[in-house]
Amino acid sequence: MKILYPGTFDPLTKGHLDLIQRAEKLFGNVVVAVLKNTSKKPTFDLSRRIIQINKAISHLPNIDVITYDGLTVDCARDVNANLILRGLRAMSDFEYELQIAHTNKSLNSKIETIFLSTNTNYSFLSSSLVKEVAKFGGEINHMVPESVERDLKDYFRK
Ligand code: ADP
Repeated sequence: MKILYPGTFDPLTKGHLDLIQRAEKLFGNVVVAVLKNTSKKPTFDLSRRIIQINKAISHLPNIDVITYDGLTVDCARDVNANLILRGLRAMSDFEYELQIAHTNKSLNSKIETIFLSTNTNYSFLSSSLVKEVAKFGGEINHMVPESVERDLKDYFRK
């Protein structure tokens, strides 16, 4: 089975990576879809985020990384995925994620959203929090893959 994992991944964290690895075991093929135009004003441009993800998943054979624009359900349909993966860290994620899942269902009833709860080790992690820590020189190597750690250190040194 193929599952689409959409997100901003600005940058990819070990929480995202853990979800990708677990989804690969459960579903077989994971397509990580990086959103091109986001209202979030990303720190890393699209090509950098793709490089970061590709480096972090290079040891995993069944993961594809793509970029997309527009509706997530259209992206899922275009890559022949009937499933969309989202992660739940805490109750605060739940309301927002449920709203998106219902919207997606109303747009394409053939596509199901699957939620995986985070590994407890990473349940506190978010891309924005990692950036905050990196900005002030805190230790981030338990939060992000190596290539992301390097990029963050470079970014905040400038
Ligand atoms: P978006 O802008 O679409 O929310 P993100 O990159 O912030 O993109 O998150 C993509 C997905 O990964 C979301 O479903 C989010 O809940 C999930 N996620 C974010 N951080 C973690 C984490 N630490 N562990 C597991 N899943 C996470």
